[in-house]
Amino acid sequence: MHLTPEHEALRRTVEAFVHKEINPHADRWEAEGGFPAHALFPKLGALGLLGITKPVEHGGMGLDITYTLVMAEALAVARCGGVPLAIGVQTDMCTPALAQFGSDALKREFLAPSIAGQLVGCLGVSEPGAGSDVAAIQTRARKDGGDYVISGQKMWITNGTQADWMCMLANTSDDPPHKNKSLLVVPLKAPGVHVERKLDKMGMRSSDTALIFFDEVRVPRAHLIGDEEGRGFAQQMAQFQDERLWGAANAAACLTRALRLTADHLGDRRAFGQPLLAHPYIQLRLAELSVEVEALRALTYRAAALHARDGASAPEVVRLASMAKLKAGRLSRELLDACVQLHGGMGYMSESLINRMYRDLRVLSIGGGADEVMLGVIAKLEGYAPARPRASEPRA
Ligand SMILES: Cc1cc2nc3c(=O)[nH]c(=O)nc-3n(C[C@H](O)[C@H](O)[C@H](O)COP(=O)(O)OP(=O)(O)OC[C@H]3O[C@@H](n4cnc5c(N)ncnc54)[C@H](O)[C@@H]3O)c2cc1C
Repeated sequence: MHLTPEHEALRRTVEAFVHKEINPHADRWEAEGGFPAHALFPKLGALGLLGITKPVEHGGMGLDITYTLVMAEALAVARCGGVPLAIGVQTDMCTPALAQFGSDALKREFLAPSIAGQLVGCLGVSEPGAGSDVAAIQTRARKDGGDYVISGQKMWITNGTQADWMCMLANTSDDPPHKNKSLLVVPLKAPGVHVERKLDKMGMRSSDTALIFFDEVRVPRAHLIGDEEGRGFAQQMAQFQDERLWGAANAAACLTRALRLTADHLGDRRAFGQPLLAHPYIQLRLAELSVEVEALRALTYRAAALHARDGASAPEVVRLASMAKLKAGRLSRELLDACVQLHGGMGYMSESLINRMYRDLRVLSIGGGADEVMLGVIAKLEGYAPARPRASEPRA
């Protein structure tokens, strides 16, 4: 991935936006457990920032994934992870499949207003009984005349209390688990949709996360994403690659920032007659971790360059995106734990930014495909795991 002056101009625009529109409110939104997406997203939409990779005819910029990853990096200047996560869901997690496979009418009704920031979207894959094992989801959309009628539950849904629509994975037939699923656009104001509750979480507190029930919810069959039923599993797997690269790019930038924050703190803080940063052990530990972050960034950039050339489903993109996602989760845990340690008592205080980062980035090893699931994909693509028939397969 080669960064051009256009990438850098985009970075400056996003950073300026974060400093003006997010950071002054971040502490309050963290305390309140949410932020006003319907107030913030139109401002991002007005700058074109919600449609960087989306088709120009629907209001997007028509650029490749490298640009949206620069935005993911720039969002790391936010004083919270939750609002960037919510933005990432809108730009790179719930809209890629709609943009790639959706009908023109569906894109006009849901994608264009989401790019403008007028509609808020969310992604509905996980359920109380199926997270890693995507093939095991139970939500069902049965056909009834010109409609689907949907019943089921979706769990841990980011933007779930505020979203206007969901990109939902549901079972649309009794075919085998990888062939019976479809992606549907589900308006969340439809009768029978019930946001059961906002979930309380250890981090990403400025982003709302919901459990949502669907009781005989009727949506037109034209809300199917793509021309054919049964393609949802594969479409969602492609969509996950964008999500994973977004997470890896955002994490690498957050981790660089965490090292800087820690070095600054240690430069100011004195112990044993000198700044803590003067201790060779501390310098070498920070240096060691900075190498790991650079390796994560290089891996992410390589995957992004291939994605821009070959698309999300290319096996090499899946292999490298899975590696980047795994590395991002594991390194976040190691590095932020070290940074909390080096902040001493202040690192343990909820009010410190490093503590918030420690709590926020912990989700990376769990959400969007847990570490172990990423390892399973990598093992398969490296040829270490012989293919064998099984009832269902993990999220990969
Ligand atoms: C803050 C947050 C936001 C989220 N946002 C969304 C969202 O917007 N939309 C959405 O659909 N989902 C969302 N999720 C759900 C997330 O994707 C799932 O939590 C994740 O996929 C893991 O599923 P699970 O929680 O059911 O874990 P389980 O499937 O119960 O797995 C538990 C643990 O078992 C281990 N494990 C799993 N599979 C294997 C395996 N094959 N081999 C070995 N070990 C394994 C892993 O350590 C895993 O963490 C969100 C989650 C969180 C925490």
